[in-house]
Amino acid sequence: MSSPSASAATGWNTVIGLEVHCQLATRTKLFCACAAEFGAPPNTRVCPLCLGAPGALPVLNQGAVALALRAALALGCTPDPASRFERKHYFYCDLPKGYQISQFARPLARGGGLELASGKFVRLQRIHMEEDAGKAIHDRGAHTLVDLNRAGVPLIEIVSEADLSGAEEAHEYLTRLKETLQFAGVSECDMERGSLRCDVNVSLHRPGTPWGTRAELKNLNSFKNVVAAIEHERARQRVELEAGRRVRQETRLWDPERAETRTLRSKENEQDYRYFPDPDLPPLVLDAATIARVRAELPELPAARRARWQRDFGLTPYDAGVLSASRALADFFEESARLSQRPKEAANWLANDVAAALAAARLDTPADLHLTPARLAQLIALVADGTLHIGGARSVLKALFTRAATPAELVAELGLAQVRDTAAIDDWCRVAIAANARAAADARAGELKALGALIGPVMKASGGRANPAAVREALLRLLREERA
Ligand code: ADP
Ligand code: MG
Ligand code: ZN
Repeated sequence: MSSPSASAATGWNTVIGLEVHCQLATRTKLFCACAAEFGAPPNTRVCPLCLGAPGALPVLNQGAVALALRAALALGCTPDPASRFERKHYFYCDLPKGYQISQFARPLARGGGLELASGKFVRLQRIHMEEDAGKAIHDRGAHTLVDLNRAGVPLIEIVSEADLSGAEEAHEYLTRLKETLQFAGVSECDMERGSLRCDVNVSLHRPGTPWGTRAELKNLNSFKNVVAAIEHERARQRVELEAGRRVRQETRLWDPERAETRTLRSKENEQDYRYFPDPDLPPLVLDAATIARVRAELPELPAARRARWQRDFGLTPYDAGVLSASRALADFFEESARLSQRPKEAANWLANDVAAALAAARLDTPADLHLTPARLAQLIALVADGTLHIGGARSVLKALFTRAATPAELVAELGLAQVRDTAAIDDWCRVAIAANARAAADARAGELKALGALIGPVMKASGGRANPAAVREALLRLLREERA
């Protein structure tokens, strides 16, 4: 991964700006009533308008406007009170009208940005609304197939300033952007379903000299690919520049199989899009009252939540970061903390055992593991009142992932309740003392480490169910009695 010092070591600074397309979570398309759903049979979510029939008139989806505005406000941008839709012309089979309705001279909003953990603020240039194009599928022998279900689906494009200086920062920026959009309910931001797409602009220059020529990288369908593509592109440009050649301004395609970028088209012969205001659509007017209402409706965003958790619950920045990775997980944590009244314990379970189980099963939220905040709170209570030791609690948690039983039922069923029966504990302790004469003698002489050597065998003999505090007490008592 890159870092400013790594760039300094190579003698090159990396400059990165991102263009992110995000699908707004509306039920219908941007200018017609067709469903904006994913995965429908090809060309079944289309109508004369999104097929580009002459004379069909677009009607702006106000729900999409509300979501776009929400995104802009969540990212601290300044909305334009009268932005404008323009036609962006190009000729391709995925674009039936021959133009895409987008925004150009007057985008929905400008400014704003996101803060990284380092304190660095990544500025945004603009956010504009546009419709998606269809999908061309080229891998069918001599034919190209076109699915227009996606044509007309509402998008926002979020363009950053080129404030990022490495792959790691780009990754963090994307993570923050995605969680902000998800928390605000703007988009599902699912890269695999195409509801979040990212183009990366990369250039290199010597410190103290003007920026270099950039290449734009496309086809990055995971954050991992974004990182890999930036690393590859940085190395490629460095080789070019150090060989005395120049980097050409071009669009390059990331090939995940070969882990490299290759030229798609050169910017030097890029077409003129012939933008002009769409005569079918009036300016997009946002009055102060609308902006104020949408701002008031914004939920608490992830950065604010993390700060509150650290302040009120004493969570570590790491745990707060893990727990705010998705809105579902964050809400789950808050509910578990409320029900258990033990936020730190709830955070521990979720950020460690539950997060590991989710990662192993490639699932997203604890609900996918049949876990509920109430069940987790019950488990925490059983540990707090001494019924369960931590190892037993782990076993109960595992069982909870596959069973509908309550933690208390599972404790009984699995025989995991801690043994606090003095007679049983005393027996295990006597055996341990007899079998470890040396440790017993040291412990009697007051060596605490030696006591630990006796607790281990007792815990083992009890199958981990003996209460450690009770074991310690029993050992000390028996050692004292023996000496007497
Ligand atoms: P286009 O629309 O042709 O892609 P823009 O001027 O809108 O071009 O820039 C797109 C993105 O490229 C922005 O995120 C911007 O910050 C970034 N960018 C511009 N110049 C450079 C550069 N020299 N190196 C890296 N990124 C750059
Ligand atoms: Mg671009
Ligand atoms: Zn339609």
